[in-house]
Amino acid sequence: MLRWKDIVYYAKYSNPEPDRKVEKTEEEWRQQLTPAQYRILREKATEPPYRNTYCRSYEPGSYTCAGCGSLLFNATEKYHAISGWPSFTQPAARGAIRYTFDDSHRMQRIEAICNVCGGHLGHVFPDGPEPGGLRYCINSESLNRIA
Ligand SMILES: [Zn+2]
Repeated sequence: MLRWKDIVYYAKYSNPEPDRKVEKTEEEWRQQLTPAQYRILREKATEPPYRNTYCRSYEPGSYTCAGCGSLLFNATEKYHAISGWPSFTQPAARGAIRYTFDDSHRMQRIEAICNVCGGHLGHVFPDGPEPGGLRYCINSESLNRIA
C-alpha cells in the first residue's frame, strides 16, 4: 500500500520505471484524443467539478488511461470525497502512476501522471481515508471505465 511518504519520495527522487512506454507526437495525440481529453492529458487542464462523467459513478470495474489504455485504478478503491472529481485511495499498481511536484496556481501540489504515456491525470493529496490516507483527485476525461 502506498502512503504519503512514498508519494513524496517518488516526486522528489525517482519514480518506478513502467513496463512499457507510449510516446507520440503532439499531432498524433491531437488526432487520437477528443479536444477535452487533449486539453487535460496533454495540456494539464482541469475539467469542471461535478459536471464530469465519473464523479458520482460507482459502477464496478476498473479505470484505464484515456491516452494509452493502461490500468490505473480499480473501482474498489474509488470513494466519495466531496471534491467534485472522481477520487481513489490507491492506484491499481505501484508503478501505474508517476509523481511530480506542481507549483502552479500558487499551490504546492503533487501531480499524478500516467507512467506509460505521460498524460496528466490530476493530483494526489494526503487527506484520503485510512489506512493509506491518500486521495487521488482525477479528471474523468483522463479515464475510461471498463467492466
Ligand atoms: Zn497513459
